[in-house]
Amino acid sequence: MAILLTQEEKDLYEKALNYGKEKLYPLTFDVDKSPELNREMIKDMAKNGFCGVGIPKEMGGKGYNYLQTALIYEGLAYGDGMMAFQMQLHNNISMEIATFYEGISDEVKAIVPGLADGSKLTAFALTESASGCDPSATTAYAELREDGYHIFGKKDWISNAENADYYNVMIKDGKDSKNMIMLLVDKGTKGLKFLKNRERLIGNGMSCGSLEFDDCVVPVSRLLSANGFKEALIAIDVARVYTPAIAVGVAQRALDITAEYLATRESFGTPILKNQGVQWELADLSAKIEAARWLVYRTASVMDSGEPVAITAAKNKYFGTEVAMEVLVKCAQYFGAEGFMKDSRISKLLYVAKMLQIVDGTTEIQKIVIGRDIARKYLKKSK
Ligand SMILES: Cc1cc2nc3c(=O)[nH]c(=O)nc-3n(C[C@H](O)[C@H](O)[C@H](O)COP(=O)(O)OP(=O)(O)OC[C@H]3O[C@@H](n4cnc5c(N)ncnc54)[C@H](O)[C@@H]3O)c2cc1C
Repeated sequence: MAILLTQEEKDLYEKALNYGKEKLYPLTFDVDKSPELNREMIKDMAKNGFCGVGIPKEMGGKGYNYLQTALIYEGLAYGDGMMAFQMQLHNNISMEIATFYEGISDEVKAIVPGLADGSKLTAFALTESASGCDPSATTAYAELREDGYHIFGKKDWISNAENADYYNVMIKDGKDSKNMIMLLVDKGTKGLKFLKNRERLIGNGMSCGSLEFDDCVVPVSRLLSANGFKEALIAIDVARVYTPAIAVGVAQRALDITAEYLATRESFGTPILKNQGVQWELADLSAKIEAARWLVYRTASVMDSGEPVAITAAKNKYFGTEVAMEVLVKCAQYFGAEGFMKDSRISKLLYVAKMLQIVDGTTEIQKIVIGRDIARKYLKKSK
């Protein structure tokens, strides 16, 4: 792995960063409330080359590798963390559909170009109300009958639940089975209902809610994977490369606006930033962001190399999102009362950082993965 970024990688980051600063940042408050503007901006991001990034060129995508893609999300997130999150969510699911599942049907292959150019949106439906961190507690299931898979059950907290065109749904292959499969379900399929959109602290321009499958029938050609759990773990590793990239962009933006604010905000007759104690705390945060940034680049590079990445990805997800949260808690404090206002920039960033600690495997789940790996090695030695 090269320790420094190439010029091409730097250019890609700059392109996303400039787009984030110029197009996304000014719209943060509007796009957060308006589903129409939100959708328009996803399309605009696609038009500007940020969609279909991990999909091979021959399938209509941009063919970027993991490092290039992570750089794009970091840059976009500097402009708006929620929009970067949505772009990576759609791109991840699209890339998985296009490249993860061997032997996908021609019917599914024909869907990929529309995902790559952003004209169609995707959602990933794994979580259920009683099976968040523990997918083995999934209850939704499909029965294979003559006319296809009949799906029953409910999924919760699904991003894009209301406005996706396709759902990548993870369910058991039989009521009493432990095996999970993945099926690609079209919006509007009979028996699939969007139940409710719950208001969140951030990102209400994107829908996030429940789906009900009540004898929803999909053809066998929509099977993405018969070994869904194993495949889902790979997909989750991908998200654990990118969510921290977004966290780094968000944390850097927070640090920059805080330094800017403290340079002009006076207390005791002098700019607050003149206090060495304040400078030292910002120095601390700046160093941690830099460490998180390079862990993202390293994790993406490991992924690009094809070496096992699960433990590195867990460390990446854990560290990057924890650093972002620490940065945001401290920076929001430096904004005083202003940082407690719903319409302040820093409080918006604080909510994004909180969300990033939960999605794609919580902080605690990452610690379980890393801790088990340590225990596995040393418990073996002490036998
Ligand atoms: C904005 C948003 C968007 C989302 N989008 C999607 C989506 O598109 N698709 C999808 O499938 N899901 C989505 N989710 C759901 C998300 O993946 C889950 O919320 C997450 O996996 C955690 O599950 P849970 O909320 O049920 O927490 P729970 O499983 O109820 O856990 C509660 C708390 O306990 C901790 N905990 C759990 N087990 C242990 C343990 N053994 N040891 C220590 N601590 C533990 C957890 O870390 C957490 O802090 C989304 C969530 C949010 C907030």
